[in-house]
Amino acid sequence: MHHRNTKIIFTIGPATDKPEMLRALIREGVDICRINMAHAPREELSGIVARVREAGRDVGRDIAIMVDIKGPEIRTGEVEEPLQLKKGDRLDFACAEDTQEKQDIPLIDVNYPGLINDLEEGSSILVDNGLMRFKVLKKTARRLHCEVEIGGKMGSRRHINLPGTRVSIPALTKKDFLDIESSLEAGVDFFAQSFVREPEDVETFRRVLSEKGSSARIIAKIEDQQAITNLDDIIRASDGLMVARGDLGIECPYEDLPVIQKRAVSTCIQLRKPAIVATHMLESMIENPVPTRAEVSDITYAVAERTDAIMLSGETTVGKYPLDCVRVFKRIAETTEKLDNPATRLPLDLRNPKSKLVRSAANLAEDVEGACVIVFTRAGNIPQTLSSLRPTSTPIYAFTDQPHLVPQMRLIRGVEPFLVEFAGEREVTIQSAFRLLIERGHVEVGSWAVLITTVLRRRRIVDGLQLRQVEPQD
Ligand code: PGA
Ligand code: MN
Repeated sequence: MHHRNTKIIFTIGPATDKPEMLRALIREGVDICRINMAHAPREELSGIVARVREAGRDVGRDIAIMVDIKGPEIRTGEVEEPLQLKKGDRLDFACAEDTQEKQDIPLIDVNYPGLINDLEEGSSILVDNGLMRFKVLKKTARRLHCEVEIGGKMGSRRHINLPGTRVSIPALTKKDFLDIESSLEAGVDFFAQSFVREPEDVETFRRVLSEKGSSARIIAKIEDQQAITNLDDIIRASDGLMVARGDLGIECPYEDLPVIQKRAVSTCIQLRKPAIVATHMLESMIENPVPTRAEVSDITYAVAERTDAIMLSGETTVGKYPLDCVRVFKRIAETTEKLDNPATRLPLDLRNPKSKLVRSAANLAEDVEGACVIVFTRAGNIPQTLSSLRPTSTPIYAFTDQPHLVPQMRLIRGVEPFLVEFAGEREVTIQSAFRLLIERGHVEVGSWAVLITTVLRRRRIVDGLQLRQVEPQD
């Protein structure tokens, strides 16, 4: 069986939420299902989770579930009719209850009263994913008087971006708390936290989860300039990072995006946290059955940077060709991974002796033709370190007795997780690992495996490395 290192995340939506399609996607090899709370109705969450889990059971491959929490978002209010705006027009934004008389200049509500304090005269306001741009000319007590710099059609409830502005809106909203509550009831493996600006935002989320006794992991979505400034600390505070290129490309100059992506992925590798490259990866395939050549290059670039996962959004929520998108991801990932060049790898800064042993295991497996690494884990740390070493063409088979860890390890590049019982005697567990790997077609009898093992010696743990051939099982 071919081993793919790069993991695939799809976002569930009307195009993919039926059992048959879910089974097909899982068979095709998706690793994580993302539920975007910016669109999914809260009442449907538990139903969606149940359907995904059931599809996984049917196919015999449990995938992970990631709930994307909307976070602080600024939006315009309702307009009776879409407003046609052109360059040079005037427009006012009302940040609080505004009882002033109607005037000639159009007035648009904003759902965030603090906007008036956060913005300076001269700042830019982008509306509707950056399609329209306004400049703040003057601030009054309740209003921002603006000039249209790039015109367009202003509809109701449009998304607002404020490039370079530090927004003081709290990290989690009332809606977010309710969404988190429902997600925990439904039982999810990951949360993606939108618009993380500083490590404290992740810590706030972490406190909410630990109060509820949840072991779900938190993926920080970096979407604005402040997140880039605090990048390293955000990665340290979180359990992984998502390069959310949609909003990031509006909040930052788009020509900076590839450099930001590269820095984000390589810092994640150094800090031993998973990285996800997301948004617009196969945008044209929402409508078309084949990717554009530019999209192929973009995906290749992400895989060559050795990101952990690549993600589909609109392509699988409302797109016409969700399964084809997964196939395109697979083809590109498999081709690009074959070209992986260890010479371009940055050395990992490993301090403790145990992680140096892990490095030896990775080197050894890379050196022995066709070898895999087999590791036993209770918290997932060793598989993560192994993965961060980014050994080329070396599958990492991670065995755990912790059920929650199996889906969580699905995000880690190159790691294939399994649930096993840990027997009192390690050799018994090793044999069950061999059996599972043979049964599921991952290894053949006689193929080489590097095992990272521990034995208990006078109540102390002794780490060991074994190089052996997979034995036949009866
Ligand atoms: P979203 O985040 O899909 O929740 O907007 C991704 C992005 O902004 O790229
Ligand atoms: Mn976003």
